[in-house]
Amino acid sequence: MFLSVFDVFKIGIGPSSSHTMGPMTAAGHFLNLLRQHPSGRQAAAVGATLHGSLAFTGKGHATDRAVALGLLGWTPAEFDFDAAERQLEELRRSRLLRPNGLPPLRFDPALDIVFDYGPPLPGHANGLVLSARDSTGAVMLNETYYSIGGGFVVTARERETPPAAADAVPWPYPFANASAMLRMARESGLSIADMKRANEIHLRTPEDVERGLARLWSVMNGCIERGLSQEGELPGGLHVRRRAARIHQQLMAERRANRSQPHAAADWLSVYAMAVNEENAAGGRVVTSPTNGAAGVVPAVLRYYLDHCIGAEPDKIADYLLTAAGIGGLIKHNASISGAEAGCQGEVGSAAAMAAAGFCAVLGGSPEQVENAAEIALEHHLGMTCDPAAGLVQVPCIERNGIGAIKAVAAASLALRGDGSHFMPLDNCIEAMRQTGEAMNAKFKETSLGGLAVNLPEC
Ligand code: SF4
Repeated sequence: MFLSVFDVFKIGIGPSSSHTMGPMTAAGHFLNLLRQHPSGRQAAAVGATLHGSLAFTGKGHATDRAVALGLLGWTPAEFDFDAAERQLEELRRSRLLRPNGLPPLRFDPALDIVFDYGPPLPGHANGLVLSARDSTGAVMLNETYYSIGGGFVVTARERETPPAAADAVPWPYPFANASAMLRMARESGLSIADMKRANEIHLRTPEDVERGLARLWSVMNGCIERGLSQEGELPGGLHVRRRAARIHQQLMAERRANRSQPHAAADWLSVYAMAVNEENAAGGRVVTSPTNGAAGVVPAVLRYYLDHCIGAEPDKIADYLLTAAGIGGLIKHNASISGAEAGCQGEVGSAAAMAAAGFCAVLGGSPEQVENAAEIALEHHLGMTCDPAAGLVQVPCIERNGIGAIKAVAAASLALRGDGSHFMPLDNCIEAMRQTGEAMNAKFKETSLGGLAVNLPEC
């Protein structure tokens, strides 16, 4: 089992990896299928149906817009907000797509994307079906996709029979769980980051890996910076105001006046995370870490390390990201990083475990201490539900990332005070998360049918 650091951390757009980036990718994939179809040149119209959580929270997560943008040829990694908006406006007027290599296709974003509020499709809570019709209206191509979290998309067939290609590669360190990871670290004498790096350079040159990691951090940090400079109301109708910029100004003023309280460290972590998640909520550029809803935790803890920790070294940015990705891969492989599948324990809980592991590693933690840090962080998110108000990735998501970052730092710090030996192995905690997610009522799995989402204040 191997999940590249560049799959765990993907440059994309807000507000949701599973509800925005995934459906956009699926729509682009479907157009490619149509291009390869023997009768693709006879296609005259396309449409989409959203199921399960994509239907219930699709409006708040802009899933319909994402599908339309995917059909217009946009991908999350190359998204240009202004150009895309202009094309979307034109599409609303013309109701016609003009994809390369295909005839013009009728598509009205207001009518041809159906929200199906019935039971979800069998393969995953986030299902969507894309279809193409010929000029007589007969369906000529149909494909079912599942957006399984973190921007990953699989077809129904792939969901039933996952491709074995990744497992067939002889990875130098093919750890599929934490106990194997620790055994390999003991036997090789390498850190988790070094083992992960060795796996990565099986796919890319060492220079490409280091360049790619530097780019990821540059986009993460750019997102923090933008979030710290923006004010005003977030879109979606909840009238949630951005807070990161004002809190940051307060923290800077307190620091200049030399009257920062020790607990302001928690506020610094929160403000970095909130800056990212406010950008995400506004549809801005973010890095999935491992999802968009949880995109603030990993960057916030890394920025905290670089700007606030004694002896911090920029050279360790790559090790932080590789270690965090190693833990994220284990969780995705053995449980889930999808809020629609596991609740928020799978999103912010996973992100906190990843950040705790990375932070522990760059502070000199042994592989055992790193595993301990990840376990502590995940354990104290178990049972956390997903119940976003109005289906928007704002309340509780923005603050929740700040608290997740604080828990990550606390978990790493606690782990560093021990020798790595501890009662509950990370593998068991991941399995507990999987079981808890499976047993969790669907009301609390990104449907906005329970919890905070149905206890909104009267305005
Ligand atoms: S509550 Fe958690 S899982 Fe749900 S949308 Fe917000 S961040 Fe994602």
